[in-house]
Amino acid sequence: MSSTVVAGIGELVTCDGAGTDGLGARTGAAVVVEDGLVAWIGPQSAAPAADRRVDVGGRAVLPGFVDSHAHLVFAGDRGDEFAARMAGTPYDGGGIGVSVAATRAATDDELRALLAARVAEMRAQGTTTVEVKSGYGLTVEDEVRALRLAREVTQETTFLGAHVVPAEYAADRAAYLDLVTGPMLAAAAPYARWVDVFCEPHSAHAFTAEEARAVLVAGREAGLGLRVHGNQLGPGPGVQLAVELGAASVDHCTYLSGADVDALAAGTTVATLLPGVEFSTRSPYPDAAALLQAGVDIALATDCNPGTCYSSSMPFVIALAVREMGLTPGQAVYAATAGSARSLRRDDVGRLVVGARADLTVLDAPSHVHLSYRAGVPIARALDLRA
Ligand SMILES: [Zn+2]
Repeated sequence: MSSTVVAGIGELVTCDGAGTDGLGARTGAAVVVEDGLVAWIGPQSAAPAADRRVDVGGRAVLPGFVDSHAHLVFAGDRGDEFAARMAGTPYDGGGIGVSVAATRAATDDELRALLAARVAEMRAQGTTTVEVKSGYGLTVEDEVRALRLAREVTQETTFLGAHVVPAEYAADRAAYLDLVTGPMLAAAAPYARWVDVFCEPHSAHAFTAEEARAVLVAGREAGLGLRVHGNQLGPGPGVQLAVELGAASVDHCTYLSGADVDALAAGTTVATLLPGVEFSTRSPYPDAAALLQAGVDIALATDCNPGTCYSSSMPFVIALAVREMGLTPGQAVYAATAGSARSLRRDDVGRLVVGARADLTVLDAPSHVHLSYRAGVPIARALDLRA
């Protein structure tokens, strides 16, 4: 057993649910960490003795960000597609095929190195838990490879064979659906915690409500939890399908009807908002404040991917959610930590309470407000407590 007291904390944000905003923010507090877990939180003057002391010099400390939606196993570059989109070419999901071709052509070691670099980039910006999806392989072998590599960096791995229908199956979607719900799922399930589907009638490459239902039901029967990409490109069935099937999360939620909001408020599915996608595709931002008002549980994540949001930055996402989606700085921080942990059905991350993982993020700033107040400035990083 080795213990560390983290002292000199300016503002401690615990996201323990205390206070009207749930942030549990306090000053003058210290945190004692033992063997990677939070062992004690209280006034610094009352902190128990520890083997080691780390003084953060008046900086704010908060739970490490939980990025609950990311596509990190890919090769290739789509900067030209982004530039074309900014020049007026609309997004329809077709560019995913470019990443599929590059990913299939990459070696294991190349993909492993790309993945490691992206995870390190996230950690350097304060993210300590990340969900990683497959979905750029779209063959049995390539999907299993992506999940196997993802498992090397996180336990939150998601089988997304139903990302798009690959080009070689464009003339026979039913055959691809049989593959995704049959042999591909069977091979992928041992490496995955979740199954996900791009349910989007507005894209010819993605999946209809009926197809998405088949993917999710098969995934559930294989023992996986459910996640859905829904309502990204226009109004659609994804949100209500996710709620009906008890999915842990429905992600994007860019276009929501009143009935969608009512369904979310009545169900247990978290609405995961991805404002980096609206930014990178010049789409309208959903009204996150209205969702909170309606009683919907929300989360924030990056959707880091080579097409619609190649940003790994949770601070950027937080700033966008405050500026463009109506959240207060505190609401955005909560959604990016405890909220996104909830979307992963985790209670050991995303908040700092005794027994939780000691995933601490430190800001070169006195309070969490600076994450959105100082947008674009690299003030957040995961605190490394290893000796
Ligand atoms: Zn996504």
